Amino acid sequence: MKISRPERIQRNRTGYNKSLGLCWSGRWLLLAGLWTCWTSSAAVVIVEDGEARAVVVIADDASATARYAADEFVEHVERATGRRLTIATEGAVPASYAGRVFIGDTVAARQEGIAPDTLGGDVFVLRTRGTDLYVVGKEDQEVDPLDERQPYGGTLFGVYELLERYLQVRWLWPGELGTFVPSTDTVVLGPLDEVVAPALRWRRFRNRMPRALRHYPDEVRRLAFSQEGLERYARDLQIYRRRQRLGDSEPKPTAGHYFFNWWPRYGQEHPEWFALDEEGRRGAEDPNARHVALCFSNPDLHRFIVDEAWDGGDELRLGDIDRSVYCLCDECMAWDGPQPTSGPASRIPGQRITSDRYARFWKTIYEKAVQRNPDVMVTTLLYFHYFPAPLTDIKLNENIYGEFCPWGHGIHEWYPASEERLEWQRQQWKGWARTGISMGYRPNHPLAGYAMPHINTWQGGNFLRFAYQHGLLGVDFSSLDAQWAVRGPELYMYFRLFIDPRQPIGEVREEYFSGFGPAADKVREYFDYWESHNLRLHLDGEWDNMWIWPSRAPAQYPPEVFPPAEALLAEALAVARTDERPAFAERVAFLQAGLEHARLCVAFIRQLKNGDLDDPAQLATLRGELDHLIGFRRDHEHLYIADYHWLATRELQRRDLREEFLKVLEATPAHTPHEHEDGTY
Ligand SMILES: [Zn+2]
Repeated sequence: MKISRPERIQRNRTGYNKSLGLCWSGRWLLLAGLWTCWTSSAAVVIVEDGEARAVVVIADDASATARYAADEFVEHVERATGRRLTIATEGAVPASYAGRVFIGDTVAARQEGIAPDTLGGDVFVLRTRGTDLYVVGKEDQEVDPLDERQPYGGTLFGVYELLERYLQVRWLWPGELGTFVPSTDTVVLGPLDEVVAPALRWRRFRNRMPRALRHYPDEVRRLAFSQEGLERYARDLQIYRRRQRLGDSEPKPTAGHYFFNWWPRYGQEHPEWFALDEEGRRGAEDPNARHVALCFSNPDLHRFIVDEAWDGGDELRLGDIDRSVYCLCDECMAWDGPQPTSGPASRIPGQRITSDRYARFWKTIYEKAVQRNPDVMVTTLLYFHYFPAPLTDIKLNENIYGEFCPWGHGIHEWYPASEERLEWQRQQWKGWARTGISMGYRPNHPLAGYAMPHINTWQGGNFLRFAYQHGLLGVDFSSLDAQWAVRGPELYMYFRLFIDPRQPIGEVREEYFSGFGPAADKVREYFDYWESHNLRLHLDGEWDNMWIWPSRAPAQYPPEVFPPAEALLAEALAVARTDERPAFAERVAFLQAGLEHARLCVAFIRQLKNGDLDDPAQLATLRGELDHLIGFRRDHEHLYIADYHWLATRELQRRDLREEFLKVLEATPAHTPHEHEDGTY
């Protein structure tokens, strides 16, 4: 598998000047040499003074993606203008329209010289010619337009680019209320002549909805969405993810835990391939232990991997087990670099940096494997004890793919972080980039925070921008455990940066706040309140870094931190109500519901931790509290204030408060969802 280097893509923005009231173009990147702006071609009038002037045209045998893209275009234009455009097939275009918007692969587009089949994955052409506009990507006739694994999103993404650039559409969160479409009576597109390619080759933000839809255990369901609510959320989330252009534009290298299970398979016959521990034993006592480290300096292991375990294909996976253990044999230890005596890495208890050993192992394997297959790519995580950059100047090459996964002992992975740690993290990225490997980014920090306003925009966003400036090819974030109301600006920011990792964080934040109309300043103040709170906790040493567990919430979000936040939202609501358009106030009410939900969650967890479940009176009180919390969730489930499935999964996690939750839940009556067909509370 070859990954082309990013240099082939032009990195400059087209840079429309915002002060002229035009948006940034080039949310994705324009291909070098193909872009000419401000051609002699005219702009195309879509709606003028409240009248539809253009017709949308798709091929007679349009693909599913082209049809869906046309529907998305028409729907958003209607929301903006109140005018519904006609969609016609190419063989039956009414003559009564001044302009035509050709969406997808059409005969007209091909006659215009656009060759969709020659375009790269998710690449699209935007071109105006006379009174026609072409929006064209490479298509597959049958592929589901919402399928993120397929590189046929170009036509759809071209439509989204137009909606953002010219109609200022902002998808703040999934569903109706999160879709911000400013009103206008005139829509004019172009002039345009662009070929736009994704800045990141794969844009993944994992989430559990597919799994939840397959298997929704009753105990989780009772704390989370109703079945109908779950299905509705999963559907709207999928639409949202595509509007934010998630997906693989090129095949993503796999970088999981490849050596998982090698001990049960090979340990009996070849104990010498496995790690030597402190007591001089190889491998593990349990013959079925699945996460057993290997002895990566062993030449016979190298031979076996390349000659036997690997199928000779374009990808050779070397991702290590999911444990922070490593071999202590003299040979392996000699492969390590000189250990640091200062800085964050030196303060990890009992931790050795083994990155040089791993780098040498990957290089050794690559050099043997490339003799079997010249196109091979060796893949791995950069993780745990081999997350820090190598300590020597070992040189690797671009056919070794490493996924930067900040993880290990609570110091690498979470935000907020100290300035020292942020700088250290940047140095680790640069250090790996200097070896010459190809790099992806696979952070876990969105996992933290439970239902709390654990928001961080500046630090996390700026690291992503930094990584992009230093060779980042694609992202695989874990996870979109989306608390939309209490962490909205952060989630929105990541989606926007995936599309254009050069955007300044402040600019992206303002896009989000603009969705609150006249309350934008107050809403900014509200989220800054929480971001400052989180940073202060960290600086005061109150920050328990490793917290994805609900039980950690009470110490960090005591009751007294909520009233100032509630006051800010009350002020925001009052300002929002001065606007005759109800959506601004409804969005503030959405934030209020999210905050109230967070307050209820942390209050319940606090009582659950401190209470005596054997005391019938206390148990009855707790059951009442939980009943109230679940009722609140069901009442608001249609708004998507939070991913309840994620929260309930954590609440019932075995290593946390599972037993206590189950005991209280046992006697809580089951709730049915409240119907809110009109979308009101
Ligand atoms: Zn060893």
